[in-house]
Amino acid sequence: MAEPLIIERSVPGRRGFRLPPSDVPAVDLEQALPAEARRTQAPHLPEVSEFDVVRHVTRLSQLNFAVDTHFYPLGSCTMKYNPKLNERVAALPGFAWTHPLQPAGEVQGLLQLLFELEQLLCGLTGMSRFTLQPAAGSQGELAGLKIIAAYHQAKRRRRSTMLIPDSAHGTNPASAALSGFQVVQVRSGPEGVIDVKDLKQHLTDDVAGFMLTNPNTLGLFESNITTISGLLHERDALVYMDGANMNALLGIARPGEMGVDLLQLNLHKTFSTPHGGGGPGSGPVGVAERLKDFLPGPQVCRRGRRYAWDRGGRRGVGRVHGFYGNVGVLVRAYTYIRSLGREGLERAGRTAIINANYLKANLQDLYPVPYGRFCMHEFVCTLKHLKAQGVTAMDVAKRLLDYGCYAPTVYFPLIVDEAFMIEPTETESKETLDEFIRAMRAIADEVRTAPDRVRQAPQRLTVRRVDEVKAAREPNLRWSEVGEPARRAG
Ligand SMILES: *Cc1c(COP(=O)(O)O)cnc(C)c1O
Repeated sequence: MAEPLIIERSVPGRRGFRLPPSDVPAVDLEQALPAEARRTQAPHLPEVSEFDVVRHVTRLSQLNFAVDTHFYPLGSCTMKYNPKLNERVAALPGFAWTHPLQPAGEVQGLLQLLFELEQLLCGLTGMSRFTLQPAAGSQGELAGLKIIAAYHQAKRRRRSTMLIPDSAHGTNPASAALSGFQVVQVRSGPEGVIDVKDLKQHLTDDVAGFMLTNPNTLGLFESNITTISGLLHERDALVYMDGANMNALLGIARPGEMGVDLLQLNLHKTFSTPHGGGGPGSGPVGVAERLKDFLPGPQVCRRGRRYAWDRGGRRGVGRVHGFYGNVGVLVRAYTYIRSLGREGLERAGRTAIINANYLKANLQDLYPVPYGRFCMHEFVCTLKHLKAQGVTAMDVAKRLLDYGCYAPTVYFPLIVDEAFMIEPTETESKETLDEFIRAMRAIADEVRTAPDRVRQAPQRLTVRRVDEVKAAREPNLRWSEVGEPARRAG
């Protein structure tokens, strides 16, 4: 049975806890607050006990798929296992109970951790400095684009074009447009990597930079990367790398050595901090030496044996976060990097690549991979041949849920028809990968013998096929409009 809304469990007068009587003199609200700041009606809140809430939330969590409960091959999102050690360290009182306004002298350990994390990220990427402030990959993109704009402004010239490949993650053109750039698309060639000829045609003196993802969203390494960065540098345009796919490069290759001028990392993907459901991320931005003056301040610096805050670069683009970023996420990422070490990280990168290629080799006879060369940490197959049976990529994704696997990313990247983007990550065992292969092959069988079963999936879950478009276009978040009578009737 589906779990009712918490408001439906409400019983008048029931409380989670009761405060002792206040010993502070009462103040007349009408005196203390102007009329427009006062409620005219009590808020409509559920009246429930703590136990009601615990059961409700626990039941909801069990209706969900999660990395801790299911295989989660969500391409591009790197849903890997989040080691519990990270949680233990982040919960240490010296980290968890620190106030962001505490004087530097009282938080030396935390500042040391942030300082060392920056150095570790520089070491892994070959960049010269990082800001740890951005709270997500997309916010890192925005900060990076502000740095690109500031770079050209410092040279007293206007550059308004941002080149972006057709395989890019949707956040790239969105961030560029939001930063006031004109987005111009660069085509991928038949190999699935950037078509250098097409890039050359778009290279004018108005180009501020090029945003590329490497490995790209097809899971392929941009093998022409040094040629590409050379072409951009000839015009003094900057190469921005969307580093959300850094998982495949860990300890193997450093973007700084490919001519990348700046990039963001997604700590909540590559560096194993929990994500999903919208919550907390971290997208540090790293820059090459000549751009470090543009980083947002403040930055942690070391003065002798002490750590302190400095204002950041002289021409810094200004803070992008209220304080110093999502520090809890930074602590987890630091713990992950230190507990694996250089060798462990490299092994993680290599295993991610092997796992993806293992799945690809065992599925591509039934699910063709249009850009089929050796892949990095993920690959994209097409399900367009299933259309003949009236089955879509969405149907197969939903059917996978019935088999106890979360679904891969579907319909992205846009250059693959009925795309199915699979990223197993390094943390999955061969047994789990084999189970996924069996499920995918069984579904291919069902498409032939019982396509309705696939079209009407999921069948074994509490919630069947939902109308996602309606939910997105007409979200109804007001309980009062759902209304008790209406729900009873339903
Ligand atoms: C996830 C992702 C992003 C966006 O990162 P968020 O933290 O979700 O904002 C950007 N680019 C690529 C390639 C990604 O996979």
